[in-house]
Amino acid sequence: MDFARPRIAAPVTTLDAPDPWSPASLRLVCLDIDDTLIDFSAAGRRALAALLGRSDLWSRWERITDRFVALVVAGEVDYASMHFRRTQCFLGELEMAADDAEVRRFEEKRKDLVRRSWRLFHDVLPCLEWLRAAGVLLAAVTNASGAHQRAKLADLGLAHFFNFVAIAGEIGVAKPDPVMFHSVCARLGCDPSEAAHVGDKLGTDAVGARDAGLEGVWLDRHESGAEVPEGVHVINGLDELPQLLVSEFARIGVPAQR
Ligand SMILES: [Mg+2]
Repeated sequence: MDFARPRIAAPVTTLDAPDPWSPASLRLVCLDIDDTLIDFSAAGRRALAALLGRSDLWSRWERITDRFVALVVAGEVDYASMHFRRTQCFLGELEMAADDAEVRRFEEKRKDLVRRSWRLFHDVLPCLEWLRAAGVLLAAVTNASGAHQRAKLADLGLAHFFNFVAIAGEIGVAKPDPVMFHSVCARLGCDPSEAAHVGDKLGTDAVGARDAGLEGVWLDRHESGAEVPEGVHVINGLDELPQLLVSEFARIGVPAQR
């Protein structure tokens, strides 16, 4: 684990009595969904390979997706048409001539395959259970579309962990816009300084959160070794999050041993 911004914090042990006159310094933990909680890229990669009989197209799909998500974030395209246009563009680049009905059929089949194969990362449930036991509020914060993300959380039995699910398309802004993070904090009655956000995208999640006044935590599951901006914390798995929170943030509750 890399602590990019060492701090001097009051020592906390499980033997310390909580101070009823001091608010917890961390009251809210926000978590991204895709590739943070759910191994979404693996499911997407498998679906494309099954539909096209090729396994070398994922990076192209991601590049096109990023381009269309940027249009959604800029307010130029809505989510419903983004999915259609993204798939149309992808098939066009592959020179697979497809009319509108064929594009829709491909996208429906792809989504169905993805939904049937998405999985939680192995470290998600222990981490969420720890956070719940620690008494912090939990928010899922995502740039993807609402119905889609709620279905994922429900399918995988995660919905009950979260006090709030923040969907960019419903709030009207997207990460890394600070308004997205501030909306979540306001909804749950927290100041940004009392919140941390954890996600797999360094810029969109960790740097965006830091710039909005939250603690930004980059989940670098692939241990990429990328340079980390000042003030961003790095973990390589969610199993490292409790240790980071306890060592970096004074007065977060420490769950009793079970
Ligand atoms: Mg993500």
